[in-house]
Amino acid sequence: MRDVFAWVLWPALLGLCVLGYWIGMTAGHPVLAYNLTYFGMAAALLALERVIPYERAWLVPDGQAANDIGHTALNKGIGQLIAGTAAVAGVSSAGPVAASGPWPGDWPLAAQVALGLLVAEFGLYWAHRLAHEWPVAWRWHAVHHSVTRLWVVNTGRFHVFDSLWKTGFALVIGLAVGAPKEVILWVLAITTYVGFLTHCNVDMRCGPLNWVFNTPELHRWHHSRNHEEGNRNYGENLIVWDALFGTRYLPPRRPPMDIGCDDPVPPTFLGQLAYPVRAWFGRARPVGDGAN
Ligand SMILES: [Zn+2]
Repeated sequence: MRDVFAWVLWPALLGLCVLGYWIGMTAGHPVLAYNLTYFGMAAALLALERVIPYERAWLVPDGQAANDIGHTALNKGIGQLIAGTAAVAGVSSAGPVAASGPWPGDWPLAAQVALGLLVAEFGLYWAHRLAHEWPVAWRWHAVHHSVTRLWVVNTGRFHVFDSLWKTGFALVIGLAVGAPKEVILWVLAITTYVGFLTHCNVDMRCGPLNWVFNTPELHRWHHSRNHEEGNRNYGENLIVWDALFGTRYLPPRRPPMDIGCDDPVPPTFLGQLAYPVRAWFGRARPVGDGAN
């Protein structure tokens, strides 16, 4: 029974959220639908982590839950601020309402969303890969990789520079090819759902989906301390660009339980916010010596 559950969970939870969002969009309540699916997915995964955890050791609190929520809220707040400022300036908060440029606006919506995911993923892939391979950007991405357990609550634990960096890459490409607002909203919603599923500590098997989507099975390798394993699987929603560029990684063994990174990311929220700047100027100190 647990095996059946493990196989069904990933597509079932994503499908339910997509259905809920579609109903809300059709009824003219996209914000309500987004919030209901957002908190519904989070609550379901929190409960499932207690019932069928992938790694029991990751159920033990790491003292970072408040910081994880703080980073998530800050990122969402700044996103709202930028969208609100754009609206006041007369610019639509998520791109033009109608398709433009080379965008195939006459395609069925589902096909446009699939294309939107693929195009946005190209930006997300390179933003993420650069964040691992370019030391300047790694300093802010290290905040996400400093976690020692994966669970649904640290899905949104990104330094605010990291969020702006990767969202900027994806949005600029999406807007450049003329994707309409509805498609961009769908891509943002699906990114949220897949992100929760990717980070949750629930025993899920994804099988052939591991060749299309970024899944928890793939992403656990990405959080390995070993760079040979961790500098792989950069996809946010899809894994297809990793497959194309040779960074997809899913060996037939269990990924490491001892995850994290060697950077001295401080344990406090403000320390984590200041970390990249301090590190750029050589001011970061090993955790625990009181200097952070
Ligand atoms: Zn990463």
